[in-house]
Amino acid sequence: MTVIDEVVAANQVYARTHELRKLTPRPERKLAVLTCMDTRLSIRTLGLQTADAHVIRNAGGIVTEDALRSLIVSHHLLGTEEIMVINHNDCGLMQASEDELRARIQSRTGTSADSPELFHVFQNVEENVRLQLQKLRAHPWIPKQIAVRGFAYDVTSGLLSEVKQKGL
Ligand SMILES: [Zn+2]
Repeated sequence: MTVIDEVVAANQVYARTHELRKLTPRPERKLAVLTCMDTRLSIRTLGLQTADAHVIRNAGGIVTEDALRSLIVSHHLLGTEEIMVINHNDCGLMQASEDELRARIQSRTGTSADSPELFHVFQNVEENVRLQLQKLRAHPWIPKQIAVRGFAYDVTSGLLSEVKQKGL
């Protein structure tokens, strides 16, 4: 039995009660979180429940074209009013340069690829969070009155610390 088979079996059990059926697609606490897919980050680390927020995850917690698309849908179609960006220390994207990462995967697979264009590797968590905030704040469809805040998550202490814009 593969893990996917186990998940399909678990879904059969879940569906007997289907507790989440009563929820609406609109996040109850009007929050959108963009963060890394890292296993050590969870709605539990943020004290959130399933219905509270949209959680958009990718490797790194990067404002990519697709993350932007999701955040715009989250606000304009589904009513979220605050955006939280979280990156973390010991992230997989801090271990190598773009070229090293590309070369490593190319050698594993024996072939090159045009996509993804970038892995969005980074060295400094705070700087990387600032870069993501800039991309969001510069977008004309992210209204200025929306709270857009960035945080670094420490996987050792379990604590978030807010990343302020330089000069503030
Ligand atoms: Zn990560």
